[in-house]
Amino acid sequence: MYYNWEEKTSTEELKVVCNLIKNGELVIFPTETVYGIGANAFDAEAVGKIFIAKGRPSDNPLIVHVGKKADIEEIATDITKVEEKLIERFMPGPFTLILKKKPGVLPDIVTAGLDTVAVRIPKNLIAQAIITFSGVPIAAPSANISGRPSGTNIEDIKQELETKVSAVIDGGNTEVGLESTVVKVVDEVPVILRPRKNYSRRNSR
Ligand code: AMP
Ligand code: MG
Repeated sequence: MYYNWEEKTSTEELKVVCNLIKNGELVIFPTETVYGIGANAFDAEAVGKIFIAKGRPSDNPLIVHVGKKADIEEIATDITKVEEKLIERFMPGPFTLILKKKPGVLPDIVTAGLDTVAVRIPKNLIAQAIITFSGVPIAAPSANISGRPSGTNIEDIKQELETKVSAVIDGGNTEVGLESTVVKVVDEVPVILRPRKNYSRRNSR
């Protein structure tokens, strides 16, 4: 299914898309950084489909997208003062924070077996609506085949991935067009693991 959000979005369509997510299907949707290929983060089988669709190595963990700050505590734990400040300052937005994973909630496949989880709150209204109405955190890497540029153009994305997902939401060109900054707090100091930068071969998994 292909939906042009600007032309014909209705509550009905939003419901259809969110039901796909809840039922373990893959959906491509825009965020303010790049397009994401998303699945219910609680559903190991659904998340497995992302790795297959992208040809992504299973040792590369995914970013989990939530709708609001309170939802972070559903998947992460022991959030420190410094982490709290970063959340207050930079979320929602093109910013990903690595936090201690709450035990027994997310399947291991999401975090590649790590005891940390990458969390982001997108600002984009379409992403916000999909996450909020789905009612589950959404694991979503960039919408591209591994090794290719991160998806920002809907025509490229459709060509690469449309046959592998249940819905593609066209929200036009992404606002930022660059991947989110990834930050981890180490000994109370925020460390940038990935600067917000444009596509490079090293950064395309
Ligand atoms: P992508 O969504 O494909 O643009 O990339 C997500 C980025 O977040 C990759 O560079 C991952 O290695 C990184 N990442 C995700 N989870 C973690 C984690 N738990 N610890 C460190 N880096 C992570
Ligand atoms: Mg990527």
